[in-house]
Order: sequence, then structure tokens, then C-alpha cells
Amino acid sequence: MLELLRKIVQEVSAASNVEAALKLIVRRIQRGMNTEVCSIFLLDESTERFVLRATQGLNRKAVGRASLATSEGIVGLVAKRAEPINLEDAESHPAFCYLKDSGEERFHSFLGVPIIHHREVLGVLVVQQQECRRFDESEEAFLVTISAQLAAVIVHAEASGAMVESPESGHKTIDRRFEGVPGAPGVAIGQVVVVSPQANLDAVPNKRITDVDTEVAFFENALERVRSDIRRVSAKLSRRLRHDEQALFDVYLKMLEDNALAGEVVGRIRDGNWAQGALSSVISENAQQFAMMEDPYLRERASDVRDLGRRVLAYLQEGDGPRTIELPDNAILVADELSPAILGEVPQDKLAGLISVKGSGNSHAAILARSMGIPTIMGIVDLPYRHLHERQVILDGFAGRLYVDPSEELVSAYQDIVKEQQEVAAGLAQLKELPAVTTDGERVPLWVNTGLLADVERSLERGAEGIGLYRTEIPFMVRDFFPSEQEQLEIYRRQLEAFAPRPVTMRTLDIGGDKALPYFPIEEENPFLGWRGIRVTLDHPEIFLVQIRAMLRANEGLGNLRIMLPMVTSVQEVDEAKRMLERAITELREEGHQIDPPEVGVMIEVPAAVYQVKRFAKRVDFISVGSNDLAQYILAVDRNNPRVANLYMAYHPAVLRALEHIAREAQQESVQLSICGEMAADPGGAMLLMAMGYDVLSMNATNLPRVKSIIRSISMQQARELLETVLQMDDAEKIQQLISQTLKQLGLSRLSQPQLPD
Ligand code: PEP
Ligand code: MG
Repeated sequence: MLELLRKIVQEVSAASNVEAALKLIVRRIQRGMNTEVCSIFLLDESTERFVLRATQGLNRKAVGRASLATSEGIVGLVAKRAEPINLEDAESHPAFCYLKDSGEERFHSFLGVPIIHHREVLGVLVVQQQECRRFDESEEAFLVTISAQLAAVIVHAEASGAMVESPESGHKTIDRRFEGVPGAPGVAIGQVVVVSPQANLDAVPNKRITDVDTEVAFFENALERVRSDIRRVSAKLSRRLRHDEQALFDVYLKMLEDNALAGEVVGRIRDGNWAQGALSSVISENAQQFAMMEDPYLRERASDVRDLGRRVLAYLQEGDGPRTIELPDNAILVADELSPAILGEVPQDKLAGLISVKGSGNSHAAILARSMGIPTIMGIVDLPYRHLHERQVILDGFAGRLYVDPSEELVSAYQDIVKEQQEVAAGLAQLKELPAVTTDGERVPLWVNTGLLADVERSLERGAEGIGLYRTEIPFMVRDFFPSEQEQLEIYRRQLEAFAPRPVTMRTLDIGGDKALPYFPIEEENPFLGWRGIRVTLDHPEIFLVQIRAMLRANEGLGNLRIMLPMVTSVQEVDEAKRMLERAITELREEGHQIDPPEVGVMIEVPAAVYQVKRFAKRVDFISVGSNDLAQYILAVDRNNPRVANLYMAYHPAVLRALEHIAREAQQESVQLSICGEMAADPGGAMLLMAMGYDVLSMNATNLPRVKSIIRSISMQQARELLETVLQMDDAEKIQQLISQTLKQLGLSRLSQPQLPD
């Protein structure tokens, strides 16, 4: 059964359209379970009816025609109860409703299971037989298992099907909507550009071309380069390999011949697809065929086919990186996985919006997008992005929604929102020189988080009073190897100089989790619970020492450096890091440098650190809370996983309690306390944090003026009253509502979220 399940999911994933996918499913299940009928009913949202979309065993002519109201028949009952119904004789059930012209009158036994995706019933999967019998438990369990797996596949196939361009109709304007996770607020209206990761066959978009001959020649050139690579490797290894191993190289060369894969690819290029798209589809179909073969030797060949495909693709993609691609005006960049490296490279002048199929609201790519002020959607997992290249879209970064081929009315509604946001921004620009002070005279210093070069200028423009977090790993990510001490010194000096005499808090390298260096891969089952932050740098003193030496040297003659340690869980880590810092200071002084010891601080990002604030306080000059990680660890919700994005709640009572506990302990030790997680950039979060007593709020430059405006509009007294009420509450959603309501009463709702179209 497991084998059958694997096969079905594989085949269905490779099906060319949703109808083919559904047909395959019913045929395979009917055969695999040895039943007489297998059918799929899917909900048509426009008519609110379950429509027969595929059947093996009932009258095929009824497909697409026969349907049941949502409250009708046993199919309706399965959907309503959201659980299987297994009947010996369906006709005798009170809910039975005969499906006209289907020919189902001959069949008595009935087993229906719901098809559920993200808690929503999409349809019902049914098997039937003439004989009056109850399907046994294992059959029921099998159907439930397969239905649970197929739900996501069906959603994806439906979405892709709707996206594929039909030559006669062109693109219709139907406001097709896809839901993701809000990444960075704002609205963008523009044209999609898909960037595919290098040599990733599954992420290549389809693109129409007109100059077929040039494209074929381009493909043949790439192919020839792969052939010559194979011949070269084969010759080099000829003495070391056995004859049968050597023969494999000949197999690869044969696979690349015109009457094999190459011929198929050229055929598809001639049909009008570009070489990368043609290659990707041919490789994927051939690999699928091999993967489904019974013979284990032949099954293994699937990975050879994919490997060859990747090699050809790599040559086709030379010079195809985000920096080199031509962007149209108002480009909306779509990537399978948006990374800080892509964001560091992409030219920003024409960039209007960003979409990442993977990742979530607090992934580092989203955090950077917010600091760049570019509307972004993350975790839009059902988006068939390979069909989206050059399509017109509206990106709603407030709600995390994407509309493909939008209607004029919708474009106009969103244009109004864009205008309103521009007015809000213009109003906020006037606050630059004014202090962040509450109406009852309490001063709240607002600092910024930086990482990209452009952040510095943006931060100064918006009146930042210091840098509360400089993510040093970002410049490390856009390179091919670790930057040298001199290179780092130059990068750090720019930050320190631009802000001097204001403080600049440099965090030591915080890699691991969702931040990978291409030249220092960390492969782990649980990266967020693994080798991250200070754990890596303490294990690699040569990397740590170079970094702190570069920081200390960059600070010569300026004196505004503060060094901050990430992901600390125990005081021993702090002691060890401080010893290394002292060593670096001594060495540099011996080398003749004028080194001032900088202030040192720790980040509170893990629950273990929450309960050691006082111990840390005795060892350091400042403490800064990383609420992004702290929330993920307290709630056990991966900040990078869109499937649990709705469970990642900064206003969760447990998170608020932890933040308040940290504030109380830090006050008792009189240590400076700041926060540099995204919560400080949220208008409601900022109100609560200042009421808790956080001395400094550090946030992305984009949101700084909004937060300043909020602080200048309320009194500390009001903020404390709000905090007191919130701390009594036990429901994050209700807390969120109360905060929105408070902002509304203060006349500040325009600063959080505009009224969006439904
Ligand atoms: C945090 O975890 O809140 C933080 C500021 O660090 P980062 O987002 O870079 O992990
Ligand atoms: Mg962190």
C-alpha cells in the first residue's frame, strides 16, 4: 500500500493539468483497492456544489455535470462531518441522494472520505462496489491516508491549471487570489519576474520565446559543454574505474543524444518554450518515469537523469543571477526561497515587491525586506510560480495576498491604498528632527537595525539615534568566502563612521538557523536548535577573533562601538567570549593600535537566558532582547515555517510575560535594556515595551517614523494602563484586537493597517 501511495503522489505531482491529475488518482485507487468505482467530488465555490470531477466506474459523461448541493447526499454528509462514512448499502441511508445519469444505481457499498486542506473541506473521495459489504478498516485507513496526502497536490494542480495560459483566451482578469504570510507591509502593482536558484530544475519558470533557432543553438552549446565535461572526467578516471563503472559515462552520453533527452528538449523549444523551461519539463518527466520503474537498477537512473539536467541547466544559467537579470519597471520578484543573499544582490531601483514561496513572516529575508521598505509576501506555498513569469499582479503585503491578472476595479482600489500610504509617509517625514517623547514627557530612544549597506543612509534620513543591532552576517552572506580582517574592518568602519558619535551595536556572527553561508554549509535536522550564533563562533576562534579584531580596529579614533553576543544560553559562553575579546585587545595593543575596550552585551533570545538575566547583567554592560527568536523558542514555533505562521504570536501571553520578567530583572540590576526584535517595530509592540520599561527600542528604519509618531501621541500613563490590562488577558488574538482598538481611539489606525478590499 505504501508503494502504491508513493507512486500515486509522484505521478499526480508530475501530471500536466488538474484534470489529468484527478483522472490518474481515481484510476490508480480503483485498481489499487480493487473496487469497482472511485470518484472525486470537488467543491465549486461559485455554485457551492460538489461537482463530480473524475470517475473510474461511473458514467464518464457525468463528469463536470453531475453535482450535489453541499447539504445533499452522503457526499454532503461526509463533507459536513469532515469524517469518513462507510456504508454497506448507501441507498438505505436517509441522506442518500441519487446522482442523476451517473449510473451509480448498481453500486451498494459506499466509502467516502473528506479531502481536507488547511482545515477546509475541498471535496470528497468515494469508492463504491456492487456487493453489499462494509469496506474493512484497512481499506478505510488507506483511503484516509491517500486523501490527506492528495489534498495539497490537488490544490497545487488546480492552482497551476488556472495559471497555465490558454492560447485562445490569453490572460483573463479574474482576480485569482493566493494567500501567503505578510512579509513586509505595503502594496505593489506590477509585473512578475521569477528568479530561479542556480541549477534547481524544479524552480525554472516557463517563458515564451520567438527566436527559436537562437534558443536551440544556445541549448546545443550548453549540451556540448556537458558532453565534453563527461568525456574529460571519464578519461581522467579511466584507470581507476572498473569496466562497468566506466560504461556508465557512455550511458550518460547516450542519454544526451538527439534521439533521447536532447531531441525532446529541442522539440519543446521549437514549440515556443525557452531552453531552461523545455529542459526542466523533459528532465522532470523522464526522471518520473525512471522513478516509477519496478527494477531497482532502472529506478536509480532517475537521479542520473536529474543530475545531467542540472549540469546542462547550470550552463544555460550562466550570467543569469539576480544582479544580471533585466528588471522591468515595477518588477515583482518571485523566488522559491528568498534569501538575504538575493536581497543583497538585486538592483533595487526597479523593484516594487518581493514574493517568497518558502519562509515565513520572521524569516531573515522578510526582516530585510521590511528594513528595505519593499512590500513582501512570504510562505505562499500553493503559488504555481513557474507559470507566473511576466504576469500582472497586485501584491498586498499587509494581508499577505497576491492577485494574479487583476481586474481594473481591483487595481484602482489598491491604487487608492498606495496613494493613502504615500500621504502617511509624507506626514511622517516631518518628524525626522523631533524627539521620540511621550505626551507626558518621557523620552524613548529609537535606534535601528542594519545589515545592508543602504540601511545606514535610510536610517540617518529617518532620524535614528543609534544602531541597536548590526547583523554582521549579512555582508558575510553575499561573498564566496569569509571576508578577511581588512575587508571586515572597512565594512564596519563605514557603519561606525556614519553614526559616530552615536552608538553602533555590532553583533558577532550569527549564522545557522535560516542564515547559511554558501561557503560554510551547516546541514542539520533541526537547525534552529543546532549550531547557531555564539555556538559556532566559540567553536571557531579563528573566525571569532578575526571578526572582533576587525571591529576593534574599525573603532580606533571613534569610540562608538558596542559588541553584542547572539544566542547565548549560559554564562560560561559570555565568560569565554569576553576572554577572547580581552585577548584580541591585548594583541592589538601589542601591535601598536589604540584600542578602547567597547561596551559588551548579550542577547536574550532563548528561554534559558530569560531566567539568567541577573547573572548576565553582572557580566555585561547592556542586554538586548531578540524577540524574534525568543518568541519562536517560547512558543515552539519555527519562525521560518509558513505552516505554523498563525501560531507565531508576538502578543502571546507567555511571550509578554517573559518580556516583562526580563524588564523587571534588568531594572533591578540597573543594566541598560533594549529590544531589537521585530516587535519593537510594531506600533502596538512599541507601546507595550516602553510601558514595561525597555530603555531603547531598536527597529527597522522603515517603521521608525511610525513608531515615533505613536510615542509622540500617547502618554506613558496610557501605555502603562494598556499594558496592565493586556497582562491580565489570556488570548493573543484578543490582545491584538484591544491594541488595534486603542490605536483607533487615539486616531492612529492609519499608522498600522489600511482598510483592504475583501
Ligand atoms: C531576534 O532574534 O529577535 C533578533 C533580533 O535576531 P535575528 O532576527 O537576527 O535572529
Ligand atoms: Mg535572533
